[in-house]
Order: sequence, then structure tokens, then C-alpha cells
Amino acid sequence: MSVDYDIVIVGGGMVGASMACSLADTDYRIAVIEAFKPDSDQQPSFDERTVALTYSSKLIFNAIGAWLDIVAEACAIKDIEVTNQDSFGFTTLGTKDSHTEALGYVVPTRCIGQVLHRKINNTENIKLICPATVDSIDNKSEYSVVNLNTQNQHKVINCKLVVLADGGRSGLLEQLGFKLKTESYPQSALIGIVATDTLHNNKAFEHFTGHGPLALLPLRERDYALAWTLPETDARELAACTDHLFLEKLQTAFGKRAGQFKAVASRNVYPLSHAILSRPWLQRTVVIGNAAHIVHPVAGQGFNLGLRDVGFLHELLMNNGFQDPGGPSLLSEYSKLRQHDTKIVGQFTDGLIRTFTSDFFPVKAGRNIGLSAINLLPRVKKELLRRTMGLHGRQSRLAISGKQ
Ligand SMILES: Cc1cc2nc3c(=O)[nH]c(=O)nc-3n(C[C@H](O)[C@H](O)[C@H](O)COP(=O)(O)OP(=O)(O)OC[C@H]3O[C@@H](n4cnc5c(N)ncnc54)[C@H](O)[C@@H]3O)c2cc1C
Repeated sequence: MSVDYDIVIVGGGMVGASMACSLADTDYRIAVIEAFKPDSDQQPSFDERTVALTYSSKLIFNAIGAWLDIVAEACAIKDIEVTNQDSFGFTTLGTKDSHTEALGYVVPTRCIGQVLHRKINNTENIKLICPATVDSIDNKSEYSVVNLNTQNQHKVINCKLVVLADGGRSGLLEQLGFKLKTESYPQSALIGIVATDTLHNNKAFEHFTGHGPLALLPLRERDYALAWTLPETDARELAACTDHLFLEKLQTAFGKRAGQFKAVASRNVYPLSHAILSRPWLQRTVVIGNAAHIVHPVAGQGFNLGLRDVGFLHELLMNNGFQDPGGPSLLSEYSKLRQHDTKIVGQFTDGLIRTFTSDFFPVKAGRNIGLSAINLLPRVKKELLRRTMGLHGRQSRLAISGKQ
């Protein structure tokens, strides 16, 4: 049976659009179906947030030809200071340990959206169908039927493989019978841009308060992207209060490590959860990005993990010759390749939250000793650095090719 496309990607957000770009100029005929245009106020993936990209994500973006445009709006992270409220424990990670030009980069999600969608629009083998919403997917033995709605018109397209990258936002996972294990955290993330009176010198801060982490990621000279984990009601109150009161509360919670806070903009609140699929494929559908796993943004890992999904799925599709891209051997191989990384990152971020929000004395004492000890134990520090940079475990061929 002839199909309309080899691959249909549902969701052209951060991960779906990256997946499409990784397959640009290949023999695959690809459709990306996205509900919102990249510059729309309703676009949930490319919004007011900035994300921290690991060094390995930079390599993937380099390999897909997007990095030169992204780096123009990125700020390099050269040092990270990790501290804990009311205690002596702290650790620092820096480029002097990693011997790279940066540990990671901070980039506005809107910039990533513009760069990826520009590339998609200029690529012959990729068709963007937007605005359009996928309502249902029917997996047959030889092909899949994707039912979509575009400008109030119902359309049907057939393909060999469906890549579900909808961020778990549309109910398609449940409809297809995927089993998602989800747990909500009692906290939310308060996001904003803050300005201080001191140059940041490319330093990021991760400060653990009793409610969870407060992260400051360097942006322009004296500006930081703030991600502050708080109980839901506190987050909402602080998002709505006056700038003056907000800056006062932030200064009290964070101290003066980054200087005096002077201004704040773009405050928003995001609920936080932890979710993982027991198996990321069924029939002819493979699930990547947030639809397959959601992690707490504590260590800035969520999108980076999704980009590693892209790297490995790309590798298998490129090794596939003229075989069926939606066949069970490719998809079960993908599942095996992604199982370990997904589990470890989920456990690592969840463990950080639980360790640093616990009031139980031995845990509290242990985390202080632990933070200080990291500075004294080169092997532990090296492992933490590799994880922070996304360089732990096997790298996909896409990431490796981004080094050139
Ligand atoms: C506060 C916060 C801070 C974060 N900071 C970081 C960080 O520093 N570093 C990091 O790596 N990660 C970070 N993350 C995580 C990161 O934002 C996500 O991992 C990433 O956005 C996931 O991208 P995605 O494309 O998988 O899903 P999404 O971003 O949810 O995108 C899904 C896309 O699918 C579209 N869509 C949904 N349903 C349909 C449908 N039926 N039909 C068509 N289109 C559809 C949506 O419109 C959207 O464009 C953070 C998250 C939060 C909440």
C-alpha cells in the first residue's frame, strides 16, 4: 500500500521540530502536524521560558545545522555554584574542570522555535501542517492512519511511522493505550527574568531552599532567568505581587551571591510533575520528548533528555536502509537504547528534589557533607560534570557528528 508520508510527527514543539530537522534532506518524506504557529501566544513549547541546554545538546543542534543561529541568542554557562540554604555545604563546577568552552548554554525557547521552524519551512522533504490538530491515530499492521483537523476541515493521512511528540498534551497517549505513570509534585515553578547590579560573568546558581531549588541562569550581562520552586499558593502569590515585594522576597531567599536584585519581568507559574511511560512504542507509534517522560526542571534536563531521544531515533532510522521505519524491530531497539538514560535522569532529578527538601536530620546532614565532599572527590565531581553536560553514557551518532 502506498502511503502519503513515511513518517508523521505529531507536535512541532521543541522535540518534534528537532526530530524533523534531524531528518532534513534525507530520503524520508515527513509531515509535522502542529497545533500552533511558532510565534503564536498560545504556542506552549516556545513561550516565555529559557532553557538550559547541555553541551551534548549543543552538539546535536550543531549536527542538524541549527546551532549557529541558536548560539547568536545563547549565553554560555562557564561556572555553576550549587548551595544549600542555612548550611555550609556547597560545590562548584566549571570549564576549568570540563576543558570545554562552556558547560552548557541558556537559550530562550522562542529562539529555538524560530530557528527550527525556519529550517523546516526551507526543507523539501518536510511538510509542516500548521495550525492543525491530530484527533486520533489508527495503527494498522502495514501503516497508520492519522486523522487531523485543519481550519475546521477533517483530513486523513497515511504513514509508516507515527512519532508522537505532543508533550502528553492531547490525550493521544491514553487513546492509543500507552501506560503513563505520573506523579505531581506539591510545588510549582515560578519563572521570570531578573536583573541585578552585578555582572554575571557566565555563572549559574542552583540554590536549594526548604521547598526545592532556586536556579539563576545567566542571560544578558546582569540578567538571569529565574526558576524558583515553591508551594503552588506561594508561587501564585509571588507571581502576582508588586515588583518591589517580589525582589525583597527573592533577595531573602537567595542572599547576595549574585548581587542586589533590581528588576523583574515575565513572571509565570508552571505546575511540576514526574512522569514516565512503561514502554515508549506500540504498534506503529513511537513516543519521544515530554510525552514519554517528564522530569522536574531542577537540573535543566527535560528537553535535553528529549533531544537525546531524537539523536537515537535518528540513528536507527538512518541505519534502517530501505526497511519499514515503523517496524517492530526498529522500535523495540529504540526502546532498549532509551530505557537506561530515561530511568536514570528521572531518578536523579527526583532524588535531588527529595534529598534537598527533606527535613529529616540524617538526610539534611548528609546533603551538606555531600555537597562539600564533591569538591574534594575528583571522580564524583567528574561524574556530576559529565551528567550536567549530558555526556554520560553512549552518545548518539548525531551528537558525535556535531563535534566536527
Ligand atoms: C518551568 C520549566 C523549566 C524548564 N527548564 C528546562 C531546562 O532548563 N532545560 C531543559 O532541558 N528542559 C527544561 N524544561 C523542560 C522542557 O521545557 C520540556 O522538556 C520540553 O518543552 C518538551 O518538549 P516537547 O516538544 O516534548 O513537548 P511540548 O513542549 O509540550 O510540545 C508539544 C507540542 O505538541 C503540540 N501538540 C500537542 N498536541 C497536539 C496535537 N494533538 N496535534 C498537533 N500538535 C499538538 C503542542 O502545541 C506543542 O507545540 C523546563 C520545563 C519547565 C516547565
